[in-house]
Amino acid sequence: MIESNRQELKESVIKQADQSVDTLYHYLRLTSVSAQHLAIPETVTFIADLLKKFGGEVQVLDELGGNPVIYGLFPAGEQGNSERTLLFYNHYDVQPPDPLDEWESEPFEPYLKDGTLYGRGTADNKGSLMQRLAAIKALEETEGLPCNVKFLIEGEEEIGSPGLPSYLKKYADLFQADACIWEFGSKDAEERVELFAGIKGSAYFELSTKSASIDLHSSLAAVVDNPAWRLVQALASMKDQNNNILVEGFFDEIEAADEELLQLVRNVPFDKAALSEPFGLTRPLITEARGEIPQDALMLYPTMTICGMVSGYIGEGAKTVLPKEAKVKLDCRMVPGQTGEHLLACFQRHLLRHGFSDIHIELIESQRAYRSNIHDPFLNLVKQTAEEAYQSDVVLYPNSPGTGPMYAFNESLHLPIVSTGVGWAESKAHAPNESIRMKDYVDGALHMAYLLTDFAAK
Ligand SMILES: [Zn+2]
Repeated sequence: MIESNRQELKESVIKQADQSVDTLYHYLRLTSVSAQHLAIPETVTFIADLLKKFGGEVQVLDELGGNPVIYGLFPAGEQGNSERTLLFYNHYDVQPPDPLDEWESEPFEPYLKDGTLYGRGTADNKGSLMQRLAAIKALEETEGLPCNVKFLIEGEEEIGSPGLPSYLKKYADLFQADACIWEFGSKDAEERVELFAGIKGSAYFELSTKSASIDLHSSLAAVVDNPAWRLVQALASMKDQNNNILVEGFFDEIEAADEELLQLVRNVPFDKAALSEPFGLTRPLITEARGEIPQDALMLYPTMTICGMVSGYIGEGAKTVLPKEAKVKLDCRMVPGQTGEHLLACFQRHLLRHGFSDIHIELIESQRAYRSNIHDPFLNLVKQTAEEAYQSDVVLYPNSPGTGPMYAFNESLHLPIVSTGVGWAESKAHAPNESIRMKDYVDGALHMAYLLTDFAAK
């Protein structure tokens, strides 16, 4: 067992984090936008070389199609505990930089100003990978790597990780580990470090209806039914004005929350002002009208959201027209237990029962929710080492309100997962002027170094 000298390790992490910045810049210059198939082969080569340079064993997996999945292994050092393995999940793809005119610097040219580094992928998710590698290097230069470390770095996270589940299934043995650190996380507006032990799922639907082969003169509305009205009425039958979801069976599969989970959920902070002010909200929060606790809603309740709708004419001035068709995109953020297939069946049955057999519904994509066992000691270990490394408050969320492929990880690997990352409250992931603060970059690397050390000792 390795004696951990925190001070020596801290100095080593600061040095390695500092030395890793040049490489991070190089990584940020690669325009690896998965949605536009940009620079994927060169990014894969870059990462494979990078892992090798840091002393890792690498396999590039690509025979199942999609952008390659990269496997990396850093075996425990001589004095380390080779019985323990931590898996890091990262992704090398980024979101498109649009809208370009809102960037104050070049999106793919890293720009450092007052300790903040700007560029597409700084927060989501290139900074995290470099930070984790810096921690590994710092450990290797001091006490040796205390346990085995594996990486799974994929290139389709920003487009919903369509290929990942088949790679996980095929390579479950290769990626086998005792616990996993997920790809994202940030500090909130009060400088608290946010950790997430799970994630919501998502099911994305398209509903459409058509009543003619061409748009018609609206005088014909006297006799011809209107697809926009049909769709609006169908939607209105699915959710009432108080935001109750009225689709029969919608809540059937949900796993009940026990007392301890409820307590954990209600212990996390909720800052109404941090939500209403920056976003200029004009309506009261729906949880207020419903007398609900917002934390419960964010983490434990599913949603049903109209993401967009189109029909007929919405240009300038007037155009009297009876549209030939209407379409809506709808997403449901799901909680553990729910499946997109079940929701699709519920929607189909609901539409038939309510007289909307003309409305077609399709499940475009879905990802199930996952929540780690909240009693798993790994959760506390991540939290305690974060407190020590960041010297600030840390909040453990049982799950994030967002979505990612955690369910597929657990299905193949069966392990606790906690997400943490390099972001801050103003990181603007997916938006123009994405950034990280270099202080967080170093503190986060220190967190990973402490975590690996203590994880190996358990
Ligand atoms: Zn992202």
